[in-house]
Order: sequence, then structure tokens, then C-alpha cells
Amino acid sequence: MSYVYDPDNIFARILRGEIPNKTVLETAHTLAFHDIRPHAPVHVLVVPKGAYVNFDHFAAEAPAEEIADFHRACAEVCRIVGIGPGDGGQGYRTISNAGAHGLQEVPHYHLHILGGRVLGPLLAR
Ligand code: 5GP
Repeated sequence: MSYVYDPDNIFARILRGEIPNKTVLETAHTLAFHDIRPHAPVHVLVVPKGAYVNFDHFAAEAPAEEIADFHRACAEVCRIVGIGPGDGGQGYRTISNAGAHGLQEVPHYHLHILGGRVLGPLLAR
């Protein structure tokens, strides 16, 4: 496997503090912030601080500590924004786009967390 990471992608610049963001949560290895063009009342992006292109890169090469931190941060975001069913919320959907068929726009791994309304079918047909 080989992955080429572009250090000038927009999320790398957000992580370096060069571009502002509306932070929901920051942990040792993870940053979560509101999407600039939300597709739902709640639309948060969760990104690892490490340089990973997409989900399969992160899963293959990130240390277990970073992977655990990332997933716990995602669950904490759901709790913070009030959509986690375990905390009385109405639920959510997570999406991770990768590559050309996934229509990934930003080549730094991120999970979309969407909620705040009934989200409709999984995919447009
Ligand atoms: P992708 O298609 O790569 O899965 O999604 C990238 C997401 O990043 C899009 O939903 C887009 O609105 C969001 N985005 C792009 N640039 C910025 C930015 O500068 N700030 C924030 N907060 N979100 C961004």
C-alpha cells in the first residue's frame, strides 16, 4: 500500500491553525469542527491530527492509540451536540468519502457526523 499525503490540504491547514474553524472538541490526537457547508442541522467533521489520506490509510497505519482516540472523540461529539441515542438524542449518520468514486473533496481522512433531522435514504439513486 502506498499513500501520498498533501500537507497543503485544507484540513492540514486547519490543524496548523492557518484557517479558523468552529471547534466542537479537541483531544490529543483528534479535532472535531463544524462543516462550513452543512448538509443537515448538525454536520460535524472529525479529523485525526496525523497525516492520513483516507479511512483505509488511517486503519492500516495509525497507532492503536490514535484510532481509539479518534473513535472515542466521535462518540463524544455525538454526546456534545445532543444526537447520541445513548444520551437521549435522536440519532445520526456517519459518512467517510474516499477517492474518486467516494467523491472525496479533501484528502485528509475525516468522518462526517450528520444529524438533527431524519436524514433520508442512504444514497441518492
Ligand atoms: P469530503 O467530500 O472530502 O468528504 O468532504 C469535505 C467537507 O469539508 C465538505 O463537506 C466541505 O463542506 C468541508 N469543508 C471544505 N473546506 C472547509 C473549510 O475550510 N472549513 C470547514 N469547516 N469545512 C470545510
